[in-house]
This record gives sequence, C-alpha cells and structure tokens, in this order.
Amino acid sequence: MRYVSTRGGTEAVGFAETLLAGLAPDGGLYIPQSWPAFTRDEIAGFAGRPYAEVAAEVLARFVGDDIPRAVIDRLTAEAYATFAHPAVTPLKQLDSGLWLLELFHGPTLAFKDVAMQLLARLYDHVLATRGRTLTIVCATSGDTGGAAVEAFRGAAHARIVVLFPEGRISEVQRRFMTTTADANVACASVKGTFDDCQTIVKALFADEDFRSDVDLSGVNSINWARVVAQAVYYFTAAVALGAPDRRIGFAVPTGNFGDAFAGFVAMKLGLPIDRMVIATNSNDIVARAFETGRYAKGQVVATQSPAMDIQIASNFERLYYEAVGRDAAETRRAFESFNSAGAIDLPTQGFGQLAELFTGVAVSEAETAASIAAAYEATGEIIDPHTAVAVAAAKRVAASDAPLVVLATAHPAKFPEAVEAAIGRQPGLHPRADGLFERDERIDHLPANAGAVKAYVRAFVKA
Ligand SMILES: *Cc1c(COP(=O)(O)O)cnc(C)c1O
Repeated sequence: MRYVSTRGGTEAVGFAETLLAGLAPDGGLYIPQSWPAFTRDEIAGFAGRPYAEVAAEVLARFVGDDIPRAVIDRLTAEAYATFAHPAVTPLKQLDSGLWLLELFHGPTLAFKDVAMQLLARLYDHVLATRGRTLTIVCATSGDTGGAAVEAFRGAAHARIVVLFPEGRISEVQRRFMTTTADANVACASVKGTFDDCQTIVKALFADEDFRSDVDLSGVNSINWARVVAQAVYYFTAAVALGAPDRRIGFAVPTGNFGDAFAGFVAMKLGLPIDRMVIATNSNDIVARAFETGRYAKGQVVATQSPAMDIQIASNFERLYYEAVGRDAAETRRAFESFNSAGAIDLPTQGFGQLAELFTGVAVSEAETAASIAAAYEATGEIIDPHTAVAVAAAKRVAASDAPLVVLATAHPAKFPEAVEAAIGRQPGLHPRADGLFERDERIDHLPANAGAVKAYVRAFVKA
C-alpha cells in the first residue's frame, strides 16, 4: 500500500511514512494510491466481533508490509482496552430510526481518543524500530490536545507540544491537557483562534530547517492513520444495525472534516452508506460548501461546541481530490488559490455526484441548546453540545427508510456549562475526570505568531 499527496508533489510513500509525517512535504495530504475494499461477506463477518478485531482488519488493509499483522493485532487490542465500555463505541437508540454512536468512552471523554490511543502505539512501535525520537506539535480546538497528551505522555520516543486558542475551550478540555506532570509534554495557549493555531503549525511544517532541527511530526486530524482509525466505527455501527443488507446513514458533527472523511473512506471500502449529514455549528464553511458549491472561509465565532469552531476544514482537500477524479494538479491549484483568496468554487461535475451522499446542515446556538433540552425531555439522555448539533441536523433532513446514526463525539461532562444552560442541571462529573480540578496546571502563553512558537518549541526540545 503506497500513499500519494493530494497535490502530487511528492514520491509515493508507505504507511509508516504517512504516520510520522502528518502533512505531505508539498503541503498536500496523503491519500492511498488506490482504494482497498472489503467484500460483502467480509463486511457481514464483522458483525458481533470485538471492536479491536474489526479495527485490526481495517488497519491491516492500509498498513501494507510496514507493520507485521501480529503487531497490529496487539496494538489494537491494547488501544481499545483503555476504553471504559466493553463495546468500545456502543450504540444507543434515541428516537425511532435515530441512534447515537457513543464515541466518548476513552480516557479524555471525546472521540479523539479512538484514533489517538491507536496512533500513539503505532508511533511507539515504528519509532522504536527505527531508533528515532520525534517532536509532535499539535494544534487543538480542544479535544485533540487532551487526547494526544493522554496518549503520548511518558512516551519513550516522542515529545509533544500542544497549542490551543486562549479562552476558547472549556475548562475540562483545558485541564485534560494542562494537568499532566510528564516532562515530555508542553502546553501553550495562543492569543488567537484555532485556525490561527493550525496555520502556525502549517508554517512550522513548511520551514524545512526547523522541521529537521526538531524532528517535527504531526498528529492533527489530517494524519492518515487517524482517518483510518475513525473509519472503523462506521463499520461496527453499520453491521450492528443490519449492514451490508441494509444501508445506514450517518450524521457527523463536523469541524476539520476528519470524522466525516473517515465515513467516506468506509464507503470506499465497501460499506453501503445511505447518506452523510454534515452538521456544523454557525462556523458553517463545510455545510455551506455542500449547499452552495462554494467553499469560502468566514469569520470564526465562539460557540457552545468549540471543537467545531473552525473555518478551514483541512480534510476537505481529500474529498476535493476524489471529486476531481484524483487530479493532483487541479487540487494544488484550488487549495493554493483557497490559501490566498479564502474561497474556491467546487467543480459542479464531481461535487454534483457527491451531493447525493452529503447534505450540509448548519445549526444555530439556539437550536443546539433546544436539541440538548429536547433529547433530555424525551429520553432522559444528556447529550453534549457537539452531539446536539448533529442530532438537530439529523432531525432537519428528510426522513429516509435507512437508520440514521448520529456520531456522539463527546461526553456531556466535558461541557457542563453548555449543558446546564440548556437543561438547568449539570451533567455530573465523570469518574475519568476525577482529580482534574485538584491538579496543578502547566500552561505557557504565546502570541499568534509562528516565529514565537518556533522559539518555544526549540527551547522545549533543548531542555
Ligand atoms: C474534533 C471534534 C469534532 C469535529 O471533528 P472533525 O473530525 O474535526 O470534523 C466534533 N466534536 C467533537 C467533540 C470534537 O472533539
């Protein structure tokens, strides 16, 4: 299995290279040279199997010869043993035809753990084999940072620097990142938005001297291994509800389009997906793109669902590449133009076909709160504001015979303020957040400026 860049400017590489590199050197995103596929029988055979085994089957299709199968089996088993639910990502029915896929039973109570627990183990294996140590720099809109810190703290072959937008994440999110004592972890708040943090990380990767000086690596949602890890729960959920004999729809709370693209990958692998409802909060670049055919950056506004406060959805480039028939020159043109102009028109032909699969729905702050309240009143279930955005979107789209699965991306205990505002009571602290409020925080403060961040990372690497 080889991987090419969506911008066509790099040699094809193996899975381990994409894992350690994150972004391709030409600024594009790695994508498989051709799509593997499961047969119908293979997909049917996933039903009833432990989550970790399905994860190993899916991962093995993408790893090629880079990691032996016995190691894949061991790492997936270890990664998913950290989850507090034996089903790892259990389904719960919310309404007739509407299901919640609970992705938040990992150590930091958000779906980012599903990929990050596996990613850290893959890193450790590959780096130990190669005798290397890397510096991971990670921009977070709130949940990736905590999941990455939890997964990589104490790692023998990696140190990690997390950048988060100052004042724009919840206290629980922040404490999952900042209360770790391990010396290989550094957290800095940046005076700016998540998009600023992400742009700084891209600038760090674009600086070749810096990249090699600190052995830079990235675990943001563009990292291919994360996308693969997230494709797994589309399979387990769909087969539990009757796939491949039945088509299943999904509603995805969307920011960087990583989780949504993972659904597209599952479909490429052969899963019969009925539709993908792309739910955004008022930062609606992706929802608008599907509805209007124009992918245009807006102003980032702070919402109750901060992990989706994003106006540049990095993984969207992978979908674009597929939509234009894998034309790398066209993808490069489009995204260089987006970088300078902040907007591009989506080619009608390719995206016209995708419009049958994807529906974009933007959900307002008032609708989000009403969605939390309605779920609570109808079922007693407390949902977090990100999940609530997707539930609201799922209820807005036209009914279909196919079951619709909402990805429940965070535990409500991570967003107590928003939940209390919606239903008048706190969700209660989760046992996994025990002690979070007693431990000391370690936070550095940085301006939204790549030069300052480079100096900070260099100093951390030297220390
Ligand atoms: C990261 C995150 C999202 C958005 O996922 P993307 O893959 O960036 O689209 C949604 N909900 C929660 C709780 C998150 O942490």
